[in-house]
Amino acid sequence: MCGIVAYVGDRTAYPILIKGLQRLEYRGYDSAGVALINDGLHVYKCKGKVKDLEEHAKGKSITGNIGMGHTRWATHGIPSDTNSHPHISMNGKFVVVHNGIIENYAHLKKGLISRGYTFQSETDTEVLANLIESIYVEQKVSAEIAVRSALTKVIGAYGLVISCSDEKDKLIAARKGSPLVIGVGENEYFLASDATPIVEYTDKVVYMDDEEVAVITKDSFTLTNIQNDTKEANIQNVTLSIDEIDKGHYEHFMLKEIYEQPLSIEDTFRGRVTMDHSKIFLGGLTEALPQLLSTKRIIIIACGTSWHAGMVGEYLFEEYARIPVEVEYASEFRYRNPVIQEGDVIIAISQSGETADTLAAIKMAKERGATIVGICNVAGSSIPRETHAGVYTHAGPEIGVASTKAFTSQVTVLSMMAFLLGKMKGSLAPDNYIHLIKELGKIPDKIKKVLESDEYIKKIAETYKDASNALYLGRGNLFPVALEGALKLKEISYIHAEGYPAAEMKHGPIALIDENMPVFVIATKDKSYDKIVSNIQEVKARNGKVIAIVTEGDQTIKKMADHVIEVPDCHEAVAPLLTVIPLQFISYHIAVMRGCNVDQPRNLAKSVTVE
Ligand code: GLU
Repeated sequence: MCGIVAYVGDRTAYPILIKGLQRLEYRGYDSAGVALINDGLHVYKCKGKVKDLEEHAKGKSITGNIGMGHTRWATHGIPSDTNSHPHISMNGKFVVVHNGIIENYAHLKKGLISRGYTFQSETDTEVLANLIESIYVEQKVSAEIAVRSALTKVIGAYGLVISCSDEKDKLIAARKGSPLVIGVGENEYFLASDATPIVEYTDKVVYMDDEEVAVITKDSFTLTNIQNDTKEANIQNVTLSIDEIDKGHYEHFMLKEIYEQPLSIEDTFRGRVTMDHSKIFLGGLTEALPQLLSTKRIIIIACGTSWHAGMVGEYLFEEYARIPVEVEYASEFRYRNPVIQEGDVIIAISQSGETADTLAAIKMAKERGATIVGICNVAGSSIPRETHAGVYTHAGPEIGVASTKAFTSQVTVLSMMAFLLGKMKGSLAPDNYIHLIKELGKIPDKIKKVLESDEYIKKIAETYKDASNALYLGRGNLFPVALEGALKLKEISYIHAEGYPAAEMKHGPIALIDENMPVFVIATKDKSYDKIVSNIQEVKARNGKVIAIVTEGDQTIKKMADHVIEVPDCHEAVAPLLTVIPLQFISYHIAVMRGCNVDQPRNLAKSVTVE
């Protein structure tokens, strides 16, 4: 989590840093700060958002052509002015911004205290700042050597930007586990946690690798590993446009991203599905295709919403490609000494491509011989760089912390993969294969129809905005949609919600149902339709309020539910892509009505780069 931005060049750094922090605020927003390096060093930092920082810096000296900024998602120490970054070392020699966790900070701190160091904050980052300074002062080495030496003593994850008061013309950056991108301009360089603060100034970027150190002045940069061996900088072009990272006329990024889904799914298809919807090409899978076709099982690894997409994938791979699938939380998988068998294929799903647990899990599985396939949104991010093969979702930047379009694009990729593998393995007949691709191809237009229900869904949201609990039920591939609906409500409106397989309700959650309990039931026409109708009856028999997502024209459920939200008729394989949209709207409107910060919900951050 947390966002880092830095600049060195001829322009005034401050406005670039502030704008960059605003773009990165989705990564963390409990405090913010900047360090400006001119004839002296000026650090402004405070608890709160970037706009609070701007207020705090008003009227103060904001000159200087070199600087760094940080927006924090606290791991060590509460959000407070003192714990905010940048952190200055005790004697003022070094200033540091950090994304990640220094796991052995307590041990290092003890050593530094015994050598006379004192600390202002509770953060692990200040320990690192003092460690670098102690090496610099005691060993009389250059700033760069002091940083390298300190990093060999550190256990944990970091994306770092560091400046030394004796070497004011340069920034030193390093990464391990947390992302850092270098923007290469004309006599100027940028550093950031992702490319969004950079694209306004240059489309040339270098994605730093783990254990790399960059030393940057306004006219040059060098890239080395921690041992100081030269690394070749791979300068790439980014294709991100400014429009994609602006809210446009929408009140929130989340709403914009909900509305973008017909387009983002089209972008996921682009170049992969023929115009006549008769064939799927997934060029990125080529390297792993033999393994995917022969594997005895697939393990899908993900966290949060991506894990829900993975569960939809489980149904699809088993149904159409007849490959057994296990879906795992990355954080559980990696610490469980899992059995990886010869020929296992791991599919890692992550919007940002930086999710720390997912990244660590695939590294472990790779070492044990598995073939790794990635499904990520952010090109050039860490997970795609660790995989043998993969498919980008191409959903465009997702800024709202609650994931919407990333989910539907992930499910689209998983659907394409399952249909393609099914066809290649012969478990899916050619005409069924074509039928399914056509059904998938119709989804963007059908989502457009669901989007037209926005105002109607808003009225339903009004009825339930004061609920303290909610239950979400679904069966088959709509059970993960129930989980996703519940997660959306929890994360942005802070209403407790649970997703359950509809039949499982009788084994516990039914006890919670009374006249105050909204129960969202995903009940489109599929092979379990009659069963879910019975589940609705069971909820109504206990006076629960039923809000059902149904297939257009359904009269049966209309008679028993309190509200129905219709979605166009579709093949059951692709129903998750349609039925999740009303649930995104419900959460969005309830959160807005409750006065919650939809794009920056409390305690959450978008890209979970700490474990
Ligand atoms: N561990 C550091 C802190 O708590 C950095 C956290 C982050 O990545 O934002 O301040």
